[in-house]
This record gives sequence, C-alpha cells and structure tokens, in this order.
Amino acid sequence: MPFASIGLSDPLVRGILATGYTAPTEIQSQAIPAALEGRDILGCAQTGTGKTAAFVLPILHRLSHERPQPAKGILSLILAPTRELAVQIEQAILEYGRFTRLRTLAVYGGVSIDAQFKALRRGVEILVATPGRLLDHIQRGTIVLRNVEVFVLDEADRMLDMGFINDVRRIVSLLP
Ligand code: AMP
Repeated sequence: MPFASIGLSDPLVRGILATGYTAPTEIQSQAIPAALEGRDILGCAQTGTGKTAAFVLPILHRLSHERPQPAKGILSLILAPTRELAVQIEQAILEYGRFTRLRTLAVYGGVSIDAQFKALRRGVEILVATPGRLLDHIQRGTIVLRNVEVFVLDEADRMLDMGFINDVRRIVSLLP
C-alpha cells in the first residue's frame, strides 16, 4: 500500500518520498488512518519498525491544515524519556515535515535554558520535551499547554520505568 492511499496530504507524501521510503511499515499502516480520524491510539512495536513516523505523520497532517497562529502556541506535545530520543524525534519531524511550515522544537535538561527561551519566543507549534525540563518551563511561564490538540507519550513504558509517573500525571493534568 503506498503512502498516498493512507490519507496523508501531498506535502507530507512528498516529504516521505524524499526521505526514500516507498511504503508504510505495519505500525504505520495500522496507526496512521486511525490517528487521521482523530482517535486515541496505544501502539506497541519493536524498535526500528517506524513508530516515530507513525505518530509524527498524522500530527504533521493535522496541524499543516491549520494556519500557524503565534497566539495559540503549542498545538502538539510529544513527551520522551531521554534527551537522545527527544533529539531523534525532532529530527524526524524536521525531515518528514520539510514541505510544511510548522515550527518544531525539542527541550530537554542538561543544556542551557536560555537558548530554549529564545526559540520558544519565536513560536513553536510542535514541542518535543523531556518531563523535567518541560515542568521547569511551565513553572517559569515560558511554556503553556492550554491549546495542545495532540499529545504523545513516546516510550511510555520506559518513561514509567525511569520514575516519571508523577511528572507525567502533572503534565497530563495541564492539558485541555
Ligand atoms: P523508529 O522505529 O521510529 O525508530 O524508526 C526506525 C527506522 O525506520 C528509522 O531509521 C526510520 O528512518 C525508518 N523508517 C520509518 N518509516 C519507514 C518506512 N515507511 N519505510 C522505510 N523506513 C522507515
């Protein structure tokens, strides 16, 4: 089954083809149509089977149909357990979304928060974050989750193993 037939918009299909993928993987063909319908999804698949694109592509599809509105702020939040994973997801979004105008940022701990403030001020529609640094930004008022439409918990099992349950609960309680 080609990518175009699972309902993704043209700029996305072009982005995917430019990446060199020819067909969706199994998790992608199962998850993407359901996500495009706006359903909640719990997905399990082994590492290396294309899970990242399975949630990134429907987010890009949905949000690229909306005009960027600086006042609305973050429209999609992706939580990841580690900095490395957050950076990988940010890269995937930049790659698949190269033909969209959506702005993406990854925020994580262990680096200066000032550069993150600056990028946030310029405007971000898709935020990838590790829980601790996200809560830090929320406390400082530099991130507001009021308008989030799509929420992803990536590697949720690992996040819980790492003891993030209370942070995740707190973040979820701030989502509309
Ligand atoms: P992930 O499971 O998200 O870590 O993805 C594993 C690898 O599969 C990444 O290197 C992706 O670039 C690649 N990938 C994702 N979707 C596809 C696809 N539809 N066809 C071929 N490779 C893909």
